[in-house]
Amino acid sequence: MSDYSIEKIQGFQGKYPKQIWYLFLTEMWERFSFYGMRGMLAVFMTEQLFFTDKEANLKYGAIQAFVYAFTFIGGLFADKILGFKKSLFWGGFLMIIGSFILAFNPQDLFFLGIAFTVIGTGFFKPNISTMVGALYKEGDYRRDAGFGLFYTGINLGALVGGVACVAVGMAYSWNIAFSLAGFGMIIGLGLFFFTKKTMGAIGDSPLTNVEAGKRTRMELVVYILSLACIPAIILMVKNTDYTDIFMYTIGPLTLIYLIYEMRQFNAAENKKIVAALVFIFFSIIFWAFFEQSGGSLSLFALNNLHDNLLGIEGVNPNTINNGANSVFVIAFSALLGLLWIWMAKKKIEPNTLIKFGLGFLFLSLAFYIFYSSRFFADSTGKTSLNIFTFAYLVITFGELCLSPIGLSIMTKLAPRKLWGVMMGMWFLGSAYGQYVAGLLGAGMASPKDDATAMEKLTSYTDGYMQLSIYALIAGVVLIVISPLVRKLMGEVK
Ligand code: GLN
Repeated sequence: MSDYSIEKIQGFQGKYPKQIWYLFLTEMWERFSFYGMRGMLAVFMTEQLFFTDKEANLKYGAIQAFVYAFTFIGGLFADKILGFKKSLFWGGFLMIIGSFILAFNPQDLFFLGIAFTVIGTGFFKPNISTMVGALYKEGDYRRDAGFGLFYTGINLGALVGGVACVAVGMAYSWNIAFSLAGFGMIIGLGLFFFTKKTMGAIGDSPLTNVEAGKRTRMELVVYILSLACIPAIILMVKNTDYTDIFMYTIGPLTLIYLIYEMRQFNAAENKKIVAALVFIFFSIIFWAFFEQSGGSLSLFALNNLHDNLLGIEGVNPNTINNGANSVFVIAFSALLGLLWIWMAKKKIEPNTLIKFGLGFLFLSLAFYIFYSSRFFADSTGKTSLNIFTFAYLVITFGELCLSPIGLSIMTKLAPRKLWGVMMGMWFLGSAYGQYVAGLLGAGMASPKDDATAMEKLTSYTDGYMQLSIYALIAGVVLIVISPLVRKLMGEVK
């Protein structure tokens, strides 16, 4: 048996397969690049491209939605033609090109650079997550913990990238900041290049039976088609009206496609696909609330918070808003994973539905805490940063019960041939979440342009109370329908 046969890889001893560390580091650098870029978008658009706040926000939301919507396409082509490894290289390569286009001339080539990043992320992001799942045998109780560890890498990269790129951009030069994002991706891809042989056949082309010349031609078609999407992405990000049309159509189209694919599977497999869709549906609700962090919560932090954290004065509330979640994920994600392993050994590990349900309960509690911060406000409408930070701790536990677990369950429920597609659909859920988050945030803002801090506090916290109630309802619904979904899931836990 070769050292890197699937049996050997999946038959690993201990808590984690060693390959997960390579994927961890690769994804960490990809997220460094991604969040570095994401952090710069809104600031760059307002300060350098002179968009109004409203325009910049709309475009930011559109870019976020597209970035996750194209994961479906990336997953689809990985399943059908490229395999996961080549998809990672192609996606990473496009992200590098995108970053360096921005580094070269961010003012004039902004949308071109962004379009490369969008399509690149589409090929990269779902497929590296699927590769993590492929390291585990069916039924291996260590899988959720593996995704928990992987999630730590995501957030390490996100935190450092977000802070470093924005700081460099603001203090020195946007060109250097965008090239930092590009170098991050080069490191990530380089690491993958040097470690990919340890993944054995995992992620190789699905077209092993096709003659090599024909396979290369098919791959070339994918590369050309993905480049051909670039003008369309530019158009849609420039004109955000198209974003709405795109979001209305992509979801139904992917569902129709999935139904078409389902004809080749047996009833048990199809039931699992339906169960996966239930999880994806709930994830949309979760992200729509959670992603208030990039919108309404950042404005709340700007207008309504003191700068005192645990007795330390001069803490910027927006730094907490942007960083606390990642710091808490880094602190707790792997630990929670180890807790799942420990519970599994004792046969008391909650199943995925319960974990998702818990995710919503934490989400609900967190928004209740955001709401209750109004009771600690002074007469200027400013309230406690400590309470705000505590709410972030709680929401992070919600995220940890849902996000890495969601990645994991996709790889458990999807039939082998649809791994990429299902993972793409999971992230498409994030795209919708992101999209709805923007609408919710806009709905919560005070209708008056010249609202006082106190009025803003009241209108946002009213909104948070409602989100808290809806999250609770979603959690309860999930628990109520759980026997039904469990039936669909068959032997999967
Ligand atoms: N923060 C996670 C990541 O960047 C989850 C993103 C998502 O699914 N919305 O991977």
